[in-house]
Amino acid sequence: MEAIASAERGTAAAAPVRIDAVGKVFVITGPSGVGKGTLIRALRERVPGLELSVSATTRAPRAGEEDGRDYHFLSREEFERSAGANEFLEHATYSGHRYGTLRSELERRLAAGGSVVLEIEVQGARQIRAATPEAVLVFIAPPDPASLRDRLEGRGTDSREAISERLRTAELELAAQEEFQHVVVNDQVERAAAALERIVRAELDQLDP
Ligand code: ADP
Ligand code: 5GP
Repeated sequence: MEAIASAERGTAAAAPVRIDAVGKVFVITGPSGVGKGTLIRALRERVPGLELSVSATTRAPRAGEEDGRDYHFLSREEFERSAGANEFLEHATYSGHRYGTLRSELERRLAAGGSVVLEIEVQGARQIRAATPEAVLVFIAPPDPASLRDRLEGRGTDSREAISERLRTAELELAAQEEFQHVVVNDQVERAAAALERIVRAELDQLDP
């Protein structure tokens, strides 16, 4: 099976990303602080060989974050230039900053024959779903809305204002969860990671040998 993924359909010059049967694309989405990063780390320990796509962003690096490992940190000008050149499979504005998945990043990882995990917010996940129906989308939900604040405060990486803005966005994101193929409630990391692992392994089992 072969398919062409292009988030910006209608743009004739779109450079498509080839998603073929060699690997799968897993999209992990959900509100900030729900535990996407934590569960992806646990998933990659449980399912060796899953590649993580490194996104581009215009937000400033947090303490300990490294360019090229955690994100490709771009200036606004660089980001918009790449967006204008159709270099993103999807991109979105979130809390005043730009975030996007570079086609080159995904292509390189798929070309190596592996399956790839994207960690992105809901607007981007919708774009991937529209452009790449064979991608597997998983929404990570909190056990209750109050736990998002507790987790964001506990993580200690965002200002009080940034947390408030992320929680406002989270209300819209939580309302969108039924759009997604799979929903995993992150009540306990081990339980949620096991649920995510089951989804991923079931999909990988369907790949041609
Ligand atoms: P996201 O990537 O979705 O923004 P993180 O993975 O950074 O979220 O998790 C946010 C915070 O919540 C982190 O401090 C993390 O350790 C914590 N966390 C993640 N999952 C759980 C859980 N099931 N129970 C309690 N705390 C959690
Ligand atoms: P953070 O600033 O906490 O790293 O990320 C903020 C939000 O942007 C999170 O929900 C994260 O999943 C999302 N995000 C990270 N990379 C991308 C991306 O490439 N595209 C989109 N659409 N969202 C992303």
